[in-house]
Parts: sequence; C-alpha cells; structure tokens
Amino acid sequence: MAHRAPNPNPAGSPSRRWPMNSNHHHGPLQLGEAAWREIDLSAIASNYRAIRMAIGSTTKFIACLKQDAYGCGAEQVAALLCAADVDAFGVVSIADALAVRKAAPRKPILMYPGIGPNAVELVRKLDLTITISGEEDLRSWLSTGIPLKIFVKVDLGFWRAGVAPSGLRHLIDLCASQANIVVDGLYAHLSEFGQAGASAPEQVTRLLPLLKELEATGHRPATIMVSSSESLLRHPEFDMDAVDPGALLFGLTGAHADRRGLIVRPALSAIKARIVALKASDDSMGAPPDLPGYRAAMRLAVLGIGWGQGMPRYPRSKTAVLIRGRRAAIVPPVHLEHLRVDVSDIPEAKLGDEAILLGASGAERITLQDLADAWDTDETGVACGLRENLRRIHLGE
Ligand SMILES: *Cc1c(COP(=O)(O)O)cnc(C)c1O
Repeated sequence: MAHRAPNPNPAGSPSRRWPMNSNHHHGPLQLGEAAWREIDLSAIASNYRAIRMAIGSTTKFIACLKQDAYGCGAEQVAALLCAADVDAFGVVSIADALAVRKAAPRKPILMYPGIGPNAVELVRKLDLTITISGEEDLRSWLSTGIPLKIFVKVDLGFWRAGVAPSGLRHLIDLCASQANIVVDGLYAHLSEFGQAGASAPEQVTRLLPLLKELEATGHRPATIMVSSSESLLRHPEFDMDAVDPGALLFGLTGAHADRRGLIVRPALSAIKARIVALKASDDSMGAPPDLPGYRAAMRLAVLGIGWGQGMPRYPRSKTAVLIRGRRAAIVPPVHLEHLRVDVSDIPEAKLGDEAILLGASGAERITLQDLADAWDTDETGVACGLRENLRRIHLGE
C-alpha cells in the first residue's frame, strides 16, 4: 500500500498512454521502475454506473473490495466509489478494511467471514459490521462485551462459511435476545459449482420460507442480500435489498451472456515491463541452454518482470509480449524477476523499451482474456494474482 504511485493523470484526460510530461517525480519511468500495471479508474466508475442503473435506486450497492479491490487498490477504489455514492463496502482482510475506512470515513463496511474477536478493538475503532456464521461464532464475539453490528450469513449450498438453513431461525432468535447485538442484514453467497451443486434458483428457494418465518416473528433483518457478480448478470430477480458484486465491478467477468445487457470493461488495462538487457546468442556463453523455442543466432531481450510479481513460471507455449507494435515470444522459464523474449525479428528493439504483457501496442493488442488463457487462469486469477510489488499506476477519473 505504501508504494502506490499517485494518479499520474489528474486532469482526467482520456489518454491511456503513460503521460511522459506530467508527474515528473513519481512515474515508474522517473523512479526507474522496470515493470508496472495500469488501473483504469474510469472503467471502474463506468462499471459502477452500469450496475447501479441495472439494479435501480431501491437496491443497495455494497461494493466488494476484497483482495485489495481485486488488485486495483482498495483505497483509491473506495475513494472513487464513495464519491459515486456507493452504499457500503465488503472486505475480508484487516488491511483492506483499513484502506477502505481511510477513503470512506462514514460508509458501512461489512467484514466477510475471516476476522475473529481478537480484532475487536479494530472493529470498534473502524466501526465495522461483522459477519456471524454460527452460534459458536456469535458467542465468541459476545464474550468481548462490546456492542456489535452484524450481518448473519446463511449457507444455501456453497458448503463454506455461513449457518446452515436448519440453524438460521435459532441463530437469529439468539441474536435478537442480545442487548449488544444489532442484526442489520442477512446474506448468502451463492455457489458456483455449475451442474454439480444446486443451481442458484434452487439455493435461493431454500431461503424464501425462512424469510417468511423471520417476518412472522418480527426478526427479518432490514437488508437481505444474495446476489454478487454471477447472479447479478443472470438473475435480476435476486437483487433483493442489496447486492455485493466484486468481479463485475472490475470488469473481470468476461463476455457473459447476461440478461441485462450490462456492459463492463476491465479496470486492469495494462501490464508493462521494460527491456533491461538485450543480447545476441553467442558461443562465448557456452553451449546453448535447453530453452523452449531457443534457436541459434537468436536475439534475446530480458524484461524486468517475473514470477515474483505474480506471473506464472511457465506460461502456455507461444505466449508473446508486444514490443514496438510487434509480437515477441516468451522464451521460458520465467524467472523470479526477469523473463526472456525473442526479439530476433524486431531489430529496432532497444534497451529501455516498454514491452506490453497486457494492452495495446500499434495495431496489436493482448486482451485480459488472452493473458488469462496464456497464464492458465481466468481474468480474476490474473488481476488478483499480481503481487503488491508490481506497482500500480492509476489512470483516468
Ligand atoms: C467474493 C465475494 C463476493 C463478490 O463475488 P464476485 O463473484 O466477485 O462478485 C460477494 N460476497 C462474498 C461473501 C464474497 O466472498
């Protein structure tokens, strides 16, 4: 968090290029940074507006900013969404809660399952809403003696955190009997097991009779929430009182066949690294190593990025980067902070050139989906797999 560069593009110009003549002291170039990622804040703002339009004003928007806002920087994203009048935030880690609270002094922050009662001082200081997933969980928090705002989590078929539907009524009654507890909400996270598990509609169907019971006893929490990215796209009927999308907000859901015509774009707009060494293969280095794709008289460029910044050690074969608008194949393996590419066909490549791992160069483009395929993951896997040491440059807004 300490090494995030300030917004290099404060005027909000639509330029996606690294602005060479602004922010002289803090850009990656000026700091001699060998690699960085670019986060397009205007994409997050526009994704937010698209989702908000779809859900309308009566459904609350709880922005899920876990994993440092899916790699986009929780503090910057919280500030942006706060200005856009988001209703609340959801996070898992204490680091993310601190970052969000700094940017959003007054918005509710829901802690998803993770923290325990030894975080009680922080919960009080940051005014966090905690999740309760069962009776034992509740009792351990009650033992702290402080007043608590909670959301109860019910497990409708994810087989993860949350009270089983059979225990929900009892847990809510127990909460209602405690002077120190205010139950602000009840939520579920729907499973993504595809055909293997219950469908999203089956899972939500498990909840409906329970809600009726809670209504009858006067214990229905004010906010009922079941929908995040996937069901938001597929099941508008599950919006209920609130939704808590994460991936969708950051444009990580790919080309979904959705029922709402929602158009989002990735906030992670570029990953770039400089050429830090260039050489022609040469007998004086001994026998050529057994590098996949190596050939005699190859000209190699070494880029200042590696698996220490979150790349895979072995991207799929034929994975390329863009240099001066041309494709240069990666010659694996990827090293801790370096990676080789074949620039034999790009004689104009120079020391210090930018290589594009994600993004456009000339007429060529590597999309987030291309990169996810090459790295054998999905778009969320790329965005959340990048390490904190790969500097973020926030563009736009
Ligand atoms: C991750 C998470 C979300 C957001 O999920 P997306 O699929 O990224 O929208 C919502 N709620 C909980 C409890 C989560 O853990």
